[in-house]
Amino acid sequence: MVAGLYVHIPFCLKKCHYCDFVSYPYDEEEARAYCDALIQEIGLYGAERKEVASIFIGGGTPTCLPAGNLAAVLEEINRFFNLSRGIEITVEANPGTVDLAGLRVLRAAGANRLSLGIQASRDRLLHVLGRVHTSAEAVEAVHVARTAGFDNLNIDLIFGIPGQTMIDWQQTLRQIVDFEPEHVAAYNLQIEDGTPLKRAVAQGKVTPCPEELELAMYREAVEFFAANGFIHYEISNFARPGRESIHNLGYWLNRPYLGVGAGAHSYLGGCRFANVTDITSYVEKIGRGNLPVASREVILPETEMAETVFLGLRLIQGLDLHAFYQRFGRPVKEIYRNEIDRLIKLGLLEDNEDFLRLTPAVLPLANEVFKAFV
Ligand code: SF4
Repeated sequence: MVAGLYVHIPFCLKKCHYCDFVSYPYDEEEARAYCDALIQEIGLYGAERKEVASIFIGGGTPTCLPAGNLAAVLEEINRFFNLSRGIEITVEANPGTVDLAGLRVLRAAGANRLSLGIQASRDRLLHVLGRVHTSAEAVEAVHVARTAGFDNLNIDLIFGIPGQTMIDWQQTLRQIVDFEPEHVAAYNLQIEDGTPLKRAVAQGKVTPCPEELELAMYREAVEFFAANGFIHYEISNFARPGRESIHNLGYWLNRPYLGVGAGAHSYLGGCRFANVTDITSYVEKIGRGNLPVASREVILPETEMAETVFLGLRLIQGLDLHAFYQRFGRPVKEIYRNEIDRLIKLGLLEDNEDFLRLTPAVLPLANEVFKAFV
């Protein structure tokens, strides 16, 4: 069974200053050819009529394409895959690229969750990030999404933006809660190599957010969302009860997934594989009837175990010890006895009969703990 199906749309109106994702400037003709290829790739996987529990159309900015193109992709998925009852179908969208007519088309095509990349609520911070939208357009996007019938809305936020103060962040949190979203994902800004933001920092034009302030912003978000009825269920994710992301839970539970589109990654049948990132090569390979896979890695059982541990520890409830035993036939505390004992003594992990989890204080530094299992 495939737990999740990811569809990558690698087009954006403009590259954000911090972005290192696979995305290219939107071009109508290229996007049309790309969607035709995407539909063919879906067909190449379709013979087995795999079952999917969630679909995530991400990017890039899927909503910079005409909604009809995305609806055609969803129609093709419907034709070639078995969609589980209660399936979650998310489309990632950016304010400034959504309108009522388009969102109605997506809703009618089966999309039942919208993930809006609002990121910040002050225009000067959106400008630092190089986002194409304004704060007013974000408000409008939420309104349009609700009017189109999306009753499951995720909002993506970024904190630790250069120049962002705690007052800015608190104002963002208040505004977001006023939107009454079902889900919020809040990540600290990563300044990646090769991005304009990294160059601006290197040239001294931009000063990164101090680490202590970033940490304080994270703690502020955790407290704020808890006080406003959200469940903190993953290090960076908050949901109204019952509105946790089915698709992302699949990743954190280390379940298989299939990714289609340029640059998409898959984890199927004990292998991880990645598609070519370049659109021209992607379209050409598909045109010749070939899967556009660029690299493939066999995941050995010990790697799968380690990944299951550190992905599971991302969840606030922790790693399910019984599920781990059922999957691998050995208790996790036997396999990693030394590492787990050491981390418990350091106060970084805690356990009970059912779960092994990060202690609350260590959540923002989780990556340091995960290194023990690699
Ligand atoms: S919208 Fe997302 S994918 Fe597109 S350029 Fe900005 S960060 Fe990158």
